[in-house]
Amino acid sequence: MKLLYYTFLLFPFILFAQNPDSNRSKKVVFIIVDGISYDQLQTASTPNIDRISKAGNLTEAYVGGIAEDYRKTPTISAVGYNSLLTGTWANKHNVYGNSIKKPNYSYPSIFRLYKDYNPKGTIGVFSSWLDNRTKLVGDGLDATDRIRVDYSYDGLEYDSINYPHDKYRNFMKLIDVHVAKEASKTILEKAPDISWVYLEYSDDIGHGYGDGPYFNAAVTFEDGLIGQIYDAVAQRQKNTNEDWLFVVTTDHGRSAKDGKHHGGQSARERSTWILTNKNNTNSYFKNETPAIVDIYPTITDFLEINVPKNIKRELDGVSLLKPISAVNLSAKIKKDTISVTWKALENQQEKAKIYISTTNLAATKGTDSYTYLGEVELAKESYKTAIKGIESNFYKVVLETKTTTLNYWINK
Ligand SMILES: [Zn+2]
Repeated sequence: MKLLYYTFLLFPFILFAQNPDSNRSKKVVFIIVDGISYDQLQTASTPNIDRISKAGNLTEAYVGGIAEDYRKTPTISAVGYNSLLTGTWANKHNVYGNSIKKPNYSYPSIFRLYKDYNPKGTIGVFSSWLDNRTKLVGDGLDATDRIRVDYSYDGLEYDSINYPHDKYRNFMKLIDVHVAKEASKTILEKAPDISWVYLEYSDDIGHGYGDGPYFNAAVTFEDGLIGQIYDAVAQRQKNTNEDWLFVVTTDHGRSAKDGKHHGGQSARERSTWILTNKNNTNSYFKNETPAIVDIYPTITDFLEINVPKNIKRELDGVSLLKPISAVNLSAKIKKDTISVTWKALENQQEKAKIYISTTNLAATKGTDSYTYLGEVELAKESYKTAIKGIESNFYKVVLETKTTTLNYWINK
């Protein structure tokens, strides 16, 4: 009896000893610094990005969707931000340009998803572009179920008294300074659960001067602000029991000719990069080229959010942290036979389940029902079966393993 009594007393301590991270609260900051291709990042002096990547990891990445098919996505700023925010390409989130005409909020932003998971959780948006909060995140809109951004600092571009617009874009440089400063301060004092910081100046200099010393200097300038925000995160990690995921990326690359433009599908316009403070990135991060849409599932993975199946089946990215079993799902239908292919990564002895749906209710906040087709060894990297009786001009194909969910559309 006495032994049992002591066992009960010790029980919580045993749990702590086994898992020291179990009581650490997790926080996320992601920064988008505008319009710096991977080669431009390597050309410029970036002492802060260098020190963060030394502790964590940096990889080349891409934006622009899949150039050859229905997922083709313009390499334009707001389009890129929304690909990160929703974890989907433009065929789903429906932002094709900077005017942000009609975002499809049926694909919940990482902020909406987080608030549904943790209604008391807090989120922050610190941005040199007001539309990011009001239109993309959709602060207070009915269509986003009136999501509330708890901490925000933006709209300075409309204050022409304190930030008079000049052709050298010095006002934007100043705005970035204040945005980074406010983000750092809020992280230090309030520690929102998920924060988005957006810095614009580098893109303005890219449009104005293209490749060269002015652009390199703008990248170095933004690197200094990234360092400030990182130091705020590092300070909280040191002084509290919090575990922070820190991610920095860019929304698009730049034109090959002179670096002045972007929007198209050239290799350099699609070429971006992802930096994180975590060194436990998966083999997909290390051996493949990740995409901007991979950041969303990386955040949900880090925060251990149990993402609802219907949302998981729409995400176009995979986590950069936990082992991922497959990528590059593709499918085609010939007569009554469907052929599905993918690239197997980890856990190849695992079985993959294949599902199909003929509806796309997810695009209007509905839930699709799927027919189970069968299962196959992941290592086979292909699956073929008859689908007689499932007539449609449109199909959604889903591949599911324990760790990974992929989807692909077939438009006949
Ligand atoms: Zn941009």
